[in-house]
Amino acid sequence: MNISIDTYKDKGARRLLVRELKTKGIVDEKVLDAIGSVQRHLFIHNDFRHLAYEDKAFPIGEGQTISQPYTVAYQTQLLHVEPNDKILEIGTGSGYQAAVLIAMGAELHSIERQEKLFIKTKNLFKSLAYQANLILGDGSNGYEKAAPFDKIIVTAGAPKVPQSLVNQLKVGGILIIPVGDEKNQIMHSIIKKTDGSVEVIPLHAFRFVPLIGQQAW
Ligand code: SAM
Repeated sequence: MNISIDTYKDKGARRLLVRELKTKGIVDEKVLDAIGSVQRHLFIHNDFRHLAYEDKAFPIGEGQTISQPYTVAYQTQLLHVEPNDKILEIGTGSGYQAAVLIAMGAELHSIERQEKLFIKTKNLFKSLAYQANLILGDGSNGYEKAAPFDKIIVTAGAPKVPQSLVNQLKVGGILIIPVGDEKNQIMHSIIKKTDGSVEVIPLHAFRFVPLIGQQAW
C-alpha cells in the first residue's frame, strides 16, 4: 500500500485515538484536534504502518523512537500553545511532535543531533510543504540564533535542566522537559518569571531515550 494515502481506516483510527487520549486525561481541544488531523502514518516506518494509530512508541532507526501519541499530547497540552508562538523542540526524531505543533499554528524550530534522522525528516517536511526551521545540532545548548522562545519542549530525558534553555525562554515562557536518570524521568513544567527566576512544577513519570549532548548525558 502507498504509505502516503490517508485511508478511511486511517481517519477512523485517528478518531479512536483521539477518544482514547480523552479517556487518558487529555482535555485541550486544540491538542486533540491536532492529533486528529496529523497523519501519524507518514512519520512511521512502513513496517509499523498498520499500527500507526496505536497509542505506542515505535523505532524510527538510529536507536530512537517516535513518541507515544499520549506523550506527545501530554507534553503539548502543558505547552499551552497559542498561534504564532515561537517554539523550540529538542529532539526532532520522526517529526511527528513537530507536525502537531505546526498544526496548532506554532512558528517551529526543531533540533536533532542524529544526521540520518535530520535528513529524513527534512525531506519529509519538504514533501509535505511544512514551514519549519529544522536544525542539525546539539539541542542541549538550545538554539541561541532564534532565541528567545515562547515555549521550549524537550523530547528526550535529561539528567538536569540545561541552564541554556532557561536563558533562552521569554519571561512568562514555558519549558517542558523530562528530568531523571537514563531510564526513568519526571516531566517538569518550568515557567520563567518576571525577575528571571523559575517556577518548577514536577509532574508525572515517563520513559524517554536520553538527551545526549554538552548540557546532558
Ligand atoms: N519528537 C520526536 C518525534 O516526534 O518523533 C521524538 C524523538 S525521540 C523520543 C528523541 C530524539 O531526541 C531522538 O531523535 C534523539 O536523536 C534526539 N536527541 C537526543 N539528544 C539530543 C540533543 N542533544 N539534541 C538534539 N536532539 C537530541
